Formats: sequence, C-alpha cells, structure tokens
Amino acid sequence: MIDYKELADFDGHEAVHHIHDAETGLSALVVLHSTFLGPGAGGVRFWHYADEAAALTDGLRLSRGMSYKNAMAGLPMGGGKAVIMAGPERMKTEAMIDAFARGIQGLEGQYVTAQDVGMSLEDMIRISQTTSFVSGLPGAGGDPGPSTALGVFLGVAAAAREALGKQSLIGVHVAIQGLGSVGGGLARHLTEAGAKLTVTDINEAHARKTAQALGARYVAPDEIMRVKADIFSPCALGAILDQGSIAALDVAAVAGGANNQLARPSDAEALRTRGILYAPDYVINAGGIINVALGYLGLEGTEGKIKSIPDRLEMIWVQARTTGDNPAVTADRMAQTLIGRG
Ligand code: NAD
Repeated sequence: MIDYKELADFDGHEAVHHIHDAETGLSALVVLHSTFLGPGAGGVRFWHYADEAAALTDGLRLSRGMSYKNAMAGLPMGGGKAVIMAGPERMKTEAMIDAFARGIQGLEGQYVTAQDVGMSLEDMIRISQTTSFVSGLPGAGGDPGPSTALGVFLGVAAAAREALGKQSLIGVHVAIQGLGSVGGGLARHLTEAGAKLTVTDINEAHARKTAQALGARYVAPDEIMRVKADIFSPCALGAILDQGSIAALDVAAVAGGANNQLARPSDAEALRTRGILYAPDYVINAGGIINVALGYLGLEGTEGKIKSIPDRLEMIWVQARTTGDNPAVTADRMAQTLIGRG
C-alpha cells in the first residue's frame, strides 16, 4: 500500500480510508483533505486508473479542491473525494455499490458523498438506501445547473464592475463558450440584463437556435476565444486557458462556470500580466454546490448564499490588487485561512 503522504500532491490531507470488498471486487479510496469546517464533502468517481498512485493523486487533488470550494462558498462542509477503481475484474455492479455504501456508512459521517464521473443518479439513490451520508438526491437540492448559472451571472456582473467600471450589464459584450446547463442559463440571464452576446457550442444546431432565440451572434467553437468582447465566459471544458489561448484573448475579464479553467496554475499569472481580470473558477461556479449542500443539510438560504458570490470575488480582487498576486493564488490563500491553515 502506498503512503499517500509521500505523493507530490499531499497537502496536509487528514486521512485516506481504503474500502475493499473481495466478494464484489470493490476497491475504493475515500480521501479527506479537511474536516475543519464540517464533514469532508465531495463526489465519488468510478474510473479506470493506471494504478493506485494515480487514483490517490486524483483523490488528493480533488479533495483539496473541494475543501477550497466549500470554504469559499461559506458552507459548513470540509473537503473530501472518493474514487472507486474500475477495471476488467472490477465492473460496477449493484453489489459493489452496496459495498461502497456500507463503507461510507462505516465512516460515520466524516465523509458525505455525491455523484461524479462514472456514477449515475440511480447509483446515488441506491447508495442512499444504505447510508444517509449522500447529497444531491432528488428532492434535496435538485438540479445544480440553474443555481450555478445564477452565481456565474452575478459573478459576470461583478467582473463588469471591477474590470470595466460598469454598474450595469446593458451593452456589455460577453462571449460564452458552451450553452449547456450552465452556459445556456447564463446566456438567458445576460440577455434579460441587456448584455450583448456572442456564443458557441460544439452542438452547432443547438448553438444557432439559442443564438437566434436570444438575439446573440453565433461563432464556430474555435473562434470564441479570439472574439473581441468585454468578458469571456468559459462554460464548457476545463484547461482552456493556456499560454497560447491567453495570448489570443481580446477581453478585459474571464468569468465563467467551467471547472479547472487554468491549464496550469501559472496561467493565472499570464492573465494578470496581460491585464485580464480572472474570476477564480471554484468561487464563481459555487452556486450548484451551495444548492446541493444546503439541500442535504435541510437549510434555507440558498439564494442569499449565491448572492454573496460577487462579494467573495470582490474581496479576492481587492486583495490581489493590494498584494500584487493573481486572483487564483489569492483565492487559494483565502480558502486556506478559512480552513485553519492560513
Ligand atoms: P453541460 O454538459 O450541460 O454543457 C456543456 C456544453 O458545452 C454542452 O452543450 C457541450 O456541447 C458544450 N461543449 C463541449 N465542448 C465544447 C467546446 N469545445 N466548445 C464549445 N462548446 C462545447 O455541462 P454544464 O453542467 O453546463 O457544465 C459546464 C461546465 O461547468 C463544466 O466544466 C462543469 O464541470 C462546470 N460546472 C457545472 C456545474 C453545474 O451545476 N452543472 C457546477 C460547477 C461547474
């Protein structure tokens, strides 16, 4: 068994729990980064990893990301992540899901799971028959997409104030990449607020139809990051901001819902050097997790918490200006302070 503390992505993680079940072939890891603010919360991923080190590395990275995201969203939740190792001998079965659920129950609430890559809603509902430590179930928070879209919309408005000095979105030109659950909702909010839109999606028919309905301009997917606009809003893929794409951007700010937008952490510095304001992804796209977490906890106040996303962003930008750091580094530092590691 590998010592996770020896891996490059170890960052003071509190624990890694191994859940094995010989009968079903289950081999899972529950990685807890921080339970300072509450139970380690984060999705469970069913994935084929090259080896245990790769699975551990994914868990270490993703659980730390969840600590930061939950803390910056003002949630009483820590950061955790579970990975179930898939393989030819390890096919997902109902018995395997049940064994995983028993393992989660055995952790007595230190970890709260949720749906992630490779897991279906049906799998999560099945898990909930064995343990209550599962969030994002129907009737307890609902679809996170609209909440994420609302938070991103408010974040785009904050970016327009910060980067352009505009108190209103009327006439502000936003280029949106991806018109799915988040990007589509964002496009509708922005249109209502009077923004001017250029949009794209790899589903061209859907993008053209949406553009027509909203009075937006359609461009091909490979053009969106070169569009001259006020704000670029990535709402599709991760790792789209790299040295090449950043050099081609012709906007004052990047503010969008996609996860892990920076190809490398240093790309935030490239944005800063070019004078492009960056809204850290895990702060601006926290609306969905707020909705899911409060639904799990049975608490009210989702909308109020989503409306505080712009305040968080403004705090980050003010602090980044004061210290001369980029907003990504600043957000991480603020999150570390919130989880007692400042
Ligand atoms: P989605 O699958 O509903 O929509 C994604 C859209 O992007 C699709 O319409 C797809 O065709 C399009 N797309 C894919 N590749 C593209 C490309 N190269 N160029 C242009 N368009 C492309 O997903 P979603 O729920 O809207 O999520 C979008 C992003 O936001 C993802 O990065 C996701 O991880 C992130 N996110 C989503 C939520 C949520 O609540 N749904 C929360 C936080 C973060």
